[in-house]
Amino acid sequence: MPSFLCIYFRKETKQTQGGRQGMPIRMPDLMRKRIIQITLEDLRSFGIRGLLLDVDNTLASHGKPEPLEGVEDWITFMREAGIKMAIISNNDSARVSPFAKRLGLPFVSKAMKPLPSGVKRGIHLLGLPPDTIAVVGDQVYTDVMGAHLAGTKAVLVEPVDEYETWSFRLRRRLERGVIRRYRRMHGEDA
Ligand SMILES: [Mg+2]
Repeated sequence: MPSFLCIYFRKETKQTQGGRQGMPIRMPDLMRKRIIQITLEDLRSFGIRGLLLDVDNTLASHGKPEPLEGVEDWITFMREAGIKMAIISNNDSARVSPFAKRLGLPFVSKAMKPLPSGVKRGIHLLGLPPDTIAVVGDQVYTDVMGAHLAGTKAVLVEPVDEYETWSFRLRRRLERGVIRRYRRMHGEDA
């Protein structure tokens, strides 16, 4: 694990901007099982006018060219409601570009989340203030942390695929405490 992430583990870094006083940067602002369960009301409750969407395990199964069922309708609905959207993925453009084209969205590939630089490129694409944007993704230590380091909000969704690899199990183990704490704060069914 990169050393800068270990620093965040040890120091439980706090973020103070955007009304998140005292909250660790790894704590999502909102959790939903699937991206299509995010509603306009959810976004309005946080003052969100733009979304930066992760691809693998958020909009689609890992590596799959087609979006999850309901995603295209959800994007059309959000677009017509005035929500600006772009795709932001750590994957390369060979994966991200055709997917973004299919959904009619601009994209940032090789975003290197949790580093804030890729998220900032996404913010620039949307042309909105960072605190009116949320990154939506399935990983605490890339999507959520990258969002907060760049000054945006973060929505965590459950990963679509459950891998049985050691790295996936480690990741889920590391994320478990964050998810438990979120559920304690927001209620078990959140
Ligand atoms: Mg992902």
